[in-house]
Amino acid sequence: MVACPECENDLDIDEEEVDEGEVVSCPECGTDFEIITVNPIELKPVEEEEVEEEEEEETEDGDYS
Ligand SMILES: [Zn+2]
Repeated sequence: MVACPECENDLDIDEEEVDEGEVVSCPECGTDFEIITVNPIELKPVEEEEVEEEEEEETEDGDYS
């Protein structure tokens, strides 16, 4: 039994029925997970191609006047 890392919903994945690299999505929270390994099943959230904002805005040096 594999639980969704996000919401802990039972994803009902049978490790013998899935392959590495397969993408499953949680019906509960809608998050997509890529199956990294099947034994044991390890899931990685699929990063959608969103524009990621930089965590820190770096001001360029040389702005002194
Ligand atoms: Zn979920």
